[in-house]
Amino acid sequence: MASNEKLAIFGGERVIAPNTFKTWPLVNEVDEQYVLASLRGTNHAFGPNCVAFEKEFAEWNGNQYAITTNSGTAALHMCVAACGCSDGDEIIVTAYSWSSSATCILHHNCIPVFVDINWETMNIDVDKIETAISEKTKAIIVVHLHGLAVDMGRVMAIAHKHNLMVIEDACQAHGAKFQGKKVGTLGHCAAFSFNQNKNLCSGEGGMFVTDDEELMKKARMLWSFGETRTPSEARDYHAYALGWMYRNNDLTAAFGRAQLTRLDLYLQWQRQNVRLLDKQLEGVPYLIRPTEPAHHEHNWYNYVLRFDLSALNQMHDASRFRDKIVRVLRAEGVEVVVWQRFILPQMTVFQAKNAYGHGAPWSSPHARPVDYALEQYPVAQRHCDTHICLVQSLRYPNGPETTELIAEAIWKVMVQVESLVDLALA
Ligand SMILES: *Cc1c(COP(=O)(O)O)cnc(C)c1O
Repeated sequence: MASNEKLAIFGGERVIAPNTFKTWPLVNEVDEQYVLASLRGTNHAFGPNCVAFEKEFAEWNGNQYAITTNSGTAALHMCVAACGCSDGDEIIVTAYSWSSSATCILHHNCIPVFVDINWETMNIDVDKIETAISEKTKAIIVVHLHGLAVDMGRVMAIAHKHNLMVIEDACQAHGAKFQGKKVGTLGHCAAFSFNQNKNLCSGEGGMFVTDDEELMKKARMLWSFGETRTPSEARDYHAYALGWMYRNNDLTAAFGRAQLTRLDLYLQWQRQNVRLLDKQLEGVPYLIRPTEPAHHEHNWYNYVLRFDLSALNQMHDASRFRDKIVRVLRAEGVEVVVWQRFILPQMTVFQAKNAYGHGAPWSSPHARPVDYALEQYPVAQRHCDTHICLVQSLRYPNGPETTELIAEAIWKVMVQVESLVDLALA
């Protein structure tokens, strides 16, 4: 491939024309039928589509119980409550994820304890979990980030040894597997998200899943005003405990059910696109491709690349240089995005140690002081500053033709990347 093709950002021809990629998610007559049927029904709150969605998702994932929620974050909070975590208890969580993987801990007055990530997997560094356990630790939240499962064999062994509960944040990991088993069936309970960008989209929404009847009952109490009965049973409108309003509505569930009929197709399709792209990117200079370790099946929710900015001598100003490459790639028409720009402990709510005022929940008499000094998370920081990802352009119904264009554009930019080092972009 020619190394001197003029870059689009300097007036050269862009590799990928505008509007090349199809938008996510595909919506067709099936979605229209489901949603119209719901609209023409009579129960628009927790209605028949909610009941059916719970049943169908539980079957698809292989869980005993599922509860629809209005977000993945609501389902995460239900997990924390179901696991019996109380004021001042500590919960271990990765230092790099979506904010609510950790703020769901604050929602139950518990204290997050962050653990650095493993560079290869981008997930929590399982080797560092045990040193983070204290006499206050009640649970571990594992986040199967970008669709790669955490090594659940080792996590469950640690949890068993220390008598801890394990919550799976599977919000990005629909269909991802560890040792042949789907995520959401590996810990004590789990949360999925059906937000717009997720592999199963219902606009917004989520699902709490578990195989444990006791956990299901506790989660359900939190879910609907502290009531103990399900909406389909006779209600006595009594708050038996503190509850929230995390229920989903029938229209959203109808949309989710329609998308669920195509979820396996979506996952298979993006796996094929990623296989092709990953092969074509072999040998691209300064580019680090993601790994899929043995005994894991990635769902490729996000295809995440890192730049080797040490080799380019740019680690002193890593995120700025990464952002420069992103601009050059986007000018070629590649839909690359930077995912999270901050590691979790760096976010203000944690640095300030103040969520509800008066320093709560960190100021609780039941809490032990915790340290969020940022030097403890160098790998998460390095990943944060050097990564880019490809999301919707690798999803159904985008196929091999557009995937090959992505590879071509990345090659074009990366063979010239050294020339960007001393170059200021307007
Ligand atoms: C999207 C996401 C969530 C939150 O899901 P919502 O439905 O947006 O509340 C939590 N954790 C991770 C890892 C996510 O990607």
